[in-house]
Amino acid sequence: MECIFCKIAQKELPTKLIYEDNLVVAFDDLHPRAPIHKLIIPRKHIATLNDITDIDMPLIGHILHTAQKLAKDCDIAEQGYRVVNNCNAGAGQTVFHLHFHLLGGREMSWPPG
Ligand code: AMP
Ligand code: ZN
Repeated sequence: MECIFCKIAQKELPTKLIYEDNLVVAFDDLHPRAPIHKLIIPRKHIATLNDITDIDMPLIGHILHTAQKLAKDCDIAEQGYRVVNNCNAGAGQTVFHLHFHLLGGREMSWPPG
């Protein structure tokens, strides 16, 4: 399957992983939109948030727990950070392998555009 994030998770691309375990991997976004911009993805290929099912609930919890851990590691937990999923093209999704953006290190405006 031609999925760039599957390739990153399977180490078929030279992307440096900042975190990995049996369920997820995390790495820096190629085009950072904030001083801290990391992506957390499941190893399992899931195209969008619309495609998760009951069996994925522990995985989604684990992704958010990983976001919390990385935010602490990057020292942005106290000042604040944002975890974002863009679901489908209308929301800005460009890579169709489920991923959560972890953004921080600057003030965030609300609502997002
Ligand atoms: P989205 O627009 O929500 O689908 O987010 C996809 C993100 O993946 C974008 O922020 C891209 O900059 C990022 N991205 C695409 N290819 C790579 C890559 N090879 N390594 C790291 N980040 C990537
Ligand atoms: Zn994939």
